[in-house]
Parts: sequence; C-alpha cells; structure tokens
Amino acid sequence: MTQTNIILLGPPGAGKGTQAKRLVDERQMVQLSTGDMLREARTSGTEMGRRVAAVMDAGHLVTDDIVIGLIEERLTTGKAGGGYIFDGFPRTLKQADALGDLLQRLGQKLDAVIEIRVDDEVLKDRIVGRYTCGNCGAVYHDKYRPTKVPGVCDTCGSTNMKRRADDTEEALRTRMLAYYRDTSPLIGYYYALRQLTTIDGLAPMDTVAEAVAKVLDKR
Ligand code: ADP
Ligand code: AMP
Repeated sequence: MTQTNIILLGPPGAGKGTQAKRLVDERQMVQLSTGDMLREARTSGTEMGRRVAAVMDAGHLVTDDIVIGLIEERLTTGKAGGGYIFDGFPRTLKQADALGDLLQRLGQKLDAVIEIRVDDEVLKDRIVGRYTCGNCGAVYHDKYRPTKVPGVCDTCGSTNMKRRADDTEEALRTRMLAYYRDTSPLIGYYYALRQLTTIDGLAPMDTVAEAVAKVLDKR
C-alpha cells in the first residue's frame, strides 16, 4: 500500500477531524489526533490525563513534551496503513521540528500540509453546535450535519452522543488565541518548505473533501 503522510492544519472548528475521518474510510489512512489521544487519557484516568484536564478545558495548549511523546509512541508502535493524517498536531514550531525529526528517523517523509482556511466568524457556530458519537467518534453538528435519527449515530447506531467541555464560547476565545500565537506561524513555515496547500474550509463538507482529495491525488 502506498503511504502518504499529511498534516491537516487549521483553527478549532475548521473541519480537520471531519476530513480526517473521511480519509480513514476512503483511503485506509490512520488518523493521529492528539486531541483525541489526550481525551482518551482523561477518560481512562491516567496520571497524564488528570494533569492535562484543566489545561484542555480552559483552551490552553498542553506541553510540547506530552504531545510529542504521544505521537512518537504511535509512530513507533502503530500501523501506518495508507499513511498518517496528523490532525491537531503539530501546533507549535517545536512540535513541527520534532515531527520532522521523527519521520526522518523512521525513514518516512511528510507528503503535504493542507491548511483548511476559514473565517473566524463561522467558528463559534461550528464549535458550539458540535457533538460526537462517544462510541465510534463520528462528528456531527446541530445544523450542518445532524444525525438522521435524533440522538442516534448514523455510523454505528450508538445513542452515546457527547459534547466537549471545551466547546464553549469562552474556551474558544482562548483556543483561538493559542492558534494565532503558537500554531499559525506553521503556515509560513510549511509554505517556505514548499509543502503547504491552502483549501477553502468554508465550502460544504463534500466540496472540502474533493479539495483534499485533489491535493492527495496530485502527488
Ligand atoms: P476540527 O477538527 O478542525 O476542530 P471538526 O471537523 O470537528 O473541526 O468540525 C467542527 C464542526 O463543524 C463539526 O460539528 C462539523 O460537523 C462541522 N463542520 C465541519 N466541516 C464543515 C463544513 N465544511 N461546513 C459546515 N460545518 C462543518
Ligand atoms: P483538539 O481536539 O485538537 O481541538 O484539541 C483539544 C485540546 O487538546 C487543545 O485545546 C489542547 O488543550 C490539547 N491539544 C491537542 N493537541 C495538542 C497539541 N498538538 N499541542 C498542545 N495541546 C494540544
């Protein structure tokens, strides 16, 4: 199987997780979401999970060492399938450098960085309307992607729908600040490395998916 490794870059609510899930289904790629990994650590009650809980709920970034450690563990022990989708990682220049080093060490490379660009105005609406299936992780939205049967996951039939503790207007303000201060410099960084492609994240989900597919197929 050919392996393609990509980063999905964009602010909270841009649609990274939504597009990552489609790539997992359609291309057998492996989604590596540091947000999901940290939430799992909290649910399973690990020491690290307890330590990061308050930081996450307030919308701050957790330390580079923690997330780099999580990614390193997955890259060195997990299956790569059709390639990795880095979703929500890297979020700082230090994380970007660590990812470059890790991939190099493993004899792999980064094939593309896809910036999903949106206007800030849509993010509040997307974030406060988001809910996910607690069983399979499918991502829904009150207005833009409701389940066909209210409260029942289209994918797995579970009725365990969840809303995130940090999907509030207040935490979003902090998350946006973190995005502009720490993560948005990565756009310039990957542009300079000639790895960046920017796509329109304001378009409907299917159109965004077509734009992502075009970037992958061009390669
Ligand atoms: P991210 O992973 O970047 O934080 P998500 O993929 O979870 O973002 O999307 C945030 C919310 O916006 C979800 O409720 C999702 O259903 C919705 N959404 C995602 N992409 C779009 C889109 N192109 N148009 C409208 N709503 C979208
Ligand atoms: P996400 O699911 O990507 O929206 O991430 C949710 C929260 O997890 C963020 O607001 C941070 O607190 C934390 N987090 C996830 N990924 C990272 C990362 N790469 N670096 C630092 N903190 C992260």
